[in-house]
Formats: sequence, structure tokens, C-alpha cells
Amino acid sequence: MSEVTAVPELAAISSAPRPIRVRLAPSPTGSLHIGTARTAVFNWLFARHNGGQFLLRIEDTDRERSQQQFTDNILDGLSWLGLAWDGAPVIQSERIELHRLAIQQLLDSGHAYRCYATEAELTSMRELQAAAKQAPRYDNRHRQLSDEQQQRFIAEGREAVIRFRIDDARTISWQDLVRGEMRWSGADLGGDMVIARRARHDQIGDPLYNLVVVVDDAAMEISHVIRGEDHIANTAKQLLLYEALGLPQPQFAHTPLILNREGRKLSKRDGVTSISDFRDMGYSASALANYMTLLGWSPPEGMGERFSLDQAASVFGFERVNRAGARFDWDKLNWLNGQVLHELGPEALRDQLLPLWQAAGYGAGEDPAWERDLCELLGASLTLLADGVSQAKPFYSCPDLDPAAQEQLTAPGAREALKALEQLLPEGELTAAEAQELLSAAAKAAGVKKGVIMKSLRAALLGSLQGPDLLSTWLLLHRRRQDLPRLQRCH
Ligand code: GLU
Repeated sequence: MSEVTAVPELAAISSAPRPIRVRLAPSPTGSLHIGTARTAVFNWLFARHNGGQFLLRIEDTDRERSQQQFTDNILDGLSWLGLAWDGAPVIQSERIELHRLAIQQLLDSGHAYRCYATEAELTSMRELQAAAKQAPRYDNRHRQLSDEQQQRFIAEGREAVIRFRIDDARTISWQDLVRGEMRWSGADLGGDMVIARRARHDQIGDPLYNLVVVVDDAAMEISHVIRGEDHIANTAKQLLLYEALGLPQPQFAHTPLILNREGRKLSKRDGVTSISDFRDMGYSASALANYMTLLGWSPPEGMGERFSLDQAASVFGFERVNRAGARFDWDKLNWLNGQVLHELGPEALRDQLLPLWQAAGYGAGEDPAWERDLCELLGASLTLLADGVSQAKPFYSCPDLDPAAQEQLTAPGAREALKALEQLLPEGELTAAEAQELLSAAAKAAGVKKGVIMKSLRAALLGSLQGPDLLSTWLLLHRRRQDLPRLQRCH
């Protein structure tokens, strides 16, 4: 292979040690996926921890599948999660001329060549390999075409792809920041790799993923490529491209995959996987970002599991990123979301719930102090903000009795006890101590245990045997004189 003058823009890339610059390179072919978002989290944490930059590159070279709505969804999702990026996003498709120049350089230096094999030829090649129980690979059949052979294929109207030579005898190795020493055999990379499609005659056509990623990462002076471990084989291929193009190599960190309950890679089939879906379900950005940090990273001893992105950034490093896949755990995400709602405190929780209560037609907003106390009562038991809508409902309107509540009211003495309570109920204020006394007095009058009246009172007030602290519930309802009608309807 000959020495060829490099593309000036690539030749100018310095191989001196770089400041930390990482990137997220999402393809806008779908909504922001939790796997991509988790990769974004690790990139962001690493950049922030090291005072480096976190860049964004939209990999939109697959023109048929890329859509602006997905780019918007990805940018919105990252912003919502609090993963701010540095500078304007780089749009990959705008850089195609540089990609083509790099491919031309590889052609000129003999690292790449045009392959004219037809689909039918490739299919029969793969069938023969399958019959011989060999792994499918391109057999490098057009590596050494003569000019005459090439002219004949062109005359037949065949379209070419451009392939990059991969030496089967090579061993590619690198020091992965998560996985340690990595080795990959050239023979396991599937034969000479396609780096451009639809290359007619002397045109380059459409540059493909591995080539464009290398050119862009080099041109953007990325110091560390942090991405999912499903890209490990690509890394081996990309290292060969860096070498052939004479470009300085970044360091690599391959993060573990997110797994579903069965231990397989989390996919669309597992239901909710896009960040906008989690948002629509009512998860908070803070809880979700916190949860994604825990997917594959273990916080240092004593830090606990609830933390902000900034707190995680202050201690983040690859030494605590696990190699094993990270199983998605709804219970933990729910717990974290509950923690976030609880941390809000009653004032802020009321501010968030008020528009939802109003949208649900509760007639909320007239008594802020009462609503604040309602939030104080409900706050600890909420998982999602939406739970604060359903759980507040019986505080705004008299609920129907569910079967368990109806059953409770048939217990011996239950209705009598509620009647006694109704008669003792003061018109004015009621304190917790007075309420306790009323319960004892009513139980005594009806000849039932206190447990019976308490359970019956819960059934009468909330229409259910489940709910928040009974005494606080009653006092809240009494403040708005909503306890009396609920008792009256029960006997
Ligand atoms: N566009 C690629 C993807 O979304 C980027 C992979 C990479 O980080 O190089 O999987």
C-alpha cells in the first residue's frame, strides 16, 4: 500500500494529548431510547467529573430512516433529563464531503477497493458457508480485480460498494476503560468491511457507519468514546480505520447493556423504553437520571442510591462501572421517584399537583393551606405524581363504597358506632386529641372495640379500607365539614 497525501483536514488533527471531550452520537431513527440515554448519562458524568466537554452528534446518514421528529425528541429528552451538551449539535450528514475524501484516501492508498459482487452472488456465497457450517463472512473475492474485470462489471451496469481490507491475521487489541485488555482477531470481523454503498463508477456513494464515526470522532477531537458494549466489534474495525487513515485513536469505554427481566437486552418488545414514555407515565427527570446512573455504575460506599447528577459527577469514574449487564428494575425506579416526590415537600408538591387536580375537575385551588396539608399527608406514599391525583380524589368528593368497605359496615356494631360518632361530632374545630376521645366514646356507646370503629370510619370516609393515616384524614375532611355527610350515608 502506497503513501498517499492525507486529506488536509484529517492530516491537521493533532496527536498531542487531548483535553477530555466525549460525545453522544444518537441516530434519529427513533425516540430517545433508555440505552442511549444511559450512555448519555455516563458520557455527561465523565465529562463533568473531569472538567471536559460533552458533545452531541446526530448520526443522520441513514436518510430513509432518519426523521426530524426523532432528532427533536432526542434533544428534548436530553434537556429534560438535565444532560446539557456543549456547543451546537454536529449534524453528520452535513459532513459527507469529508467522509468521502477519507474514503478516497483509503482507495488511493490501497486500503480500500470497489467490490462488484451482486446480491445474488453474495446470497449464494452465504448459503455455501451455511452448508459447510461456517460463519457467514465476505470472502474478499473482489480484492484483486484486474482492470478488465472491473470494466466488464461496470459495463454490465453493476453498482459497487467500497470495502476496507481487513487482514485475517491481525489481532486488534486495546485497553478498555471498563473491560480492561480487549483482543479481537481480524478473522472474526466478517471479511473486508463495506465502508460505502451505491458507489457508481468513480463516485464514492454513501459512506457507512464505521467509517463516518471514525472520521467524525477524529475531526471532533474526541478523547474518549463511551458507548454500549454492543459496539465492541465495531471498535475493533474502527481501530483498523484509525490506523489506515493515520489518525490518533481515542480511548474506549464499553458500558454494560441494559437487560430485561429475563436477562436479555432490553428492547422495544419490553414495553416502555423511550424517555418520552417514562416522562408521559409521570416519572420525574431527577429520578430517571438517578436510576439510569445506577444501571451499571455502583456509587461509592456511604453515598446511598438517591443522588443528583451533580453529586454522581463529583465521584464518577469507570472503575465503578460494572462489566455485567444491568437488569432493569421497576421497583427501584419507583422507589426513587417516590423519594423525589417526598423530597419536594408539601408546598412544591401542591404546586405540581394543583394543575392536575384542576384538570381532573376537583374544584381545587380554593384553600391552599388545606391542600398543603393534604400533600403533607399523601406525600410519603406517592410513587408517581399521578398517584397524587387518584389519592386526592376522595378528599374532594364523596367516594362510593368499595366491596370491602361495604362488608366492613356490616360488621356487628359498625353502623351503630358511626351513628354514635356522628352525634358526638362538634360543629367547630376538632383537634387530634379530641378526635381520639370521640372515637373511644363512640366505641363505648356502641359496645364495640376501638378497632371496629376505626376501620368503619375509614370505610365511611374514604370508601375503602386502604388509605393514608386515618386520624389525619378525618381531621382534614372535618376542616371542610366533609366528614358528617359521609358518616350519615352509612347508617
Ligand atoms: N449512531 C450510533 C448508535 O446510535 C453511535 C454509536 C457510537 O457511539 O459510535 O448506535
